[in-house]
Amino acid sequence: MDKIRMTTPLVEMDGDEMTRILWKMIKEELLLPFIDLKTEYYDLGLKHRDETGDQVTIDSALAAKKYGVAVKCATITPNAARVEEYDLKEMYKSPNGTIRAILDGTVFRAPIIVKGINPTVRTWKKPITIARHAYGDVYKAVDMKIPGPGKAELVFTAEDGSQIRETIHDFDGPGILQGMHNLNSSIESFARSCFNYALETGQDLWFATKDTISKKYDHSFKDIFQEIFDAEYKERFDEAGIEYFYTLIDDAVARVIRSEGGYIWACKNYDGDVMSDMVATAFGSLAMMTSVLVAPDGTTEYEAAHGTVQRHYYKHLKGEETSTNSVATIFAWTGALRKRGKLDQIPELMEFADKLEKATIDTIESGTMTKDLALITTLEYVHPVNSEDFIRAVRKRLEESR
Ligand code: NAP
Ligand code: MG
Repeated sequence: MDKIRMTTPLVEMDGDEMTRILWKMIKEELLLPFIDLKTEYYDLGLKHRDETGDQVTIDSALAAKKYGVAVKCATITPNAARVEEYDLKEMYKSPNGTIRAILDGTVFRAPIIVKGINPTVRTWKKPITIARHAYGDVYKAVDMKIPGPGKAELVFTAEDGSQIRETIHDFDGPGILQGMHNLNSSIESFARSCFNYALETGQDLWFATKDTISKKYDHSFKDIFQEIFDAEYKERFDEAGIEYFYTLIDDAVARVIRSEGGYIWACKNYDGDVMSDMVATAFGSLAMMTSVLVAPDGTTEYEAAHGTVQRHYYKHLKGEETSTNSVATIFAWTGALRKRGKLDQIPELMEFADKLEKATIDTIESGTMTKDLALITTLEYVHPVNSEDFIRAVRKRLEESR
């Protein structure tokens, strides 16, 4: 059978440890036999990041901007232990942070639903996608311990020297203080990323903040979303038959728990941090979660939500068997291939992505799965397999479906 041809390359960002091993095997077993794969390859493995003084991470993000679609393997974010382990010249920043700063995007995370891995919340039938704003608020805050009595003020000094001043609190004893900010431009690009993603996936968009209490800060988020929606998206949402819905964060939480799923839940930075862990865990596993960064210019980068699975890698290095779940990494590739196919109008590439996802899900639903899932499945016949055999089982199904 002829291999599927591609016209434009994907930006391929290779990574570290166990996910790097899976990456290579996914390409060899599940992609290269079927596709005339065109990628522009960037090695974000820690060793090569060090050799290039991290320039390769910047280059890969610029390439993603140029070609529009990227797929990324999990990477090590160095800490002190890693600096020693890899004899690094520097404690480089998180590659995801560097890439996000260049692409200015929003991260969307959605669970991969399979029969036999049941959500903890009974009513959830469809995935809930969390869209997390990735700039500012408490993550860029300045905070202080107040030693004793005194007056705390919020002061803004404009370029012309004029000031806006507000008393925060007259302290009569020790306390704590925090100042945080956000930028209209960042909130605007967050809003556009969410509206575009809702249109692209045909799902409703929910957004919630605490605007009743935070009358200027959170209220600005609400207003900016509404203005952009009314001016740029309302008609397209009507045409697509989807809805934009704003509510208070506490109401949203209650509705999410009662819901069937099947929508995108846009969250401010902190809410997204906390709620995505809750949603991922309640759906079963971080290894069954897709993650995609969507930039306001449409650039899309697909990855897995989990890390490099260091513990399994060390077992692998010792020659021991591993049972690492490759589903999220496989879905990063299918997401990127489908997007490339859509942009370049190659229906066979989009169909291939669908088939590979189906083969992966069918493999699990037939009982063949890695240990992380075998431990939590409700299926009666379970055949736990190692990392390699899972990928081979998916290949077998994929070949049968062609
Ligand atoms: P991790 O790689 O997500 O793994 C933590 C644990 O979760 C594993 O030990 C394993 O549990 C389980 N797990 C995660 N993914 C799994 C999979 N695909 N299959 C089976 N089990 C899975 O987090 P980490 O070990 O704390 O971090 C390792 C490195 O990843 C760090 O250097 C960190 O900087 C990096 N990281 C990268 C990204 C990214 O690039 N997006 C994200 C997070 C972390 P058991 O050991 O119990 O089996
Ligand atoms: Mg978190």
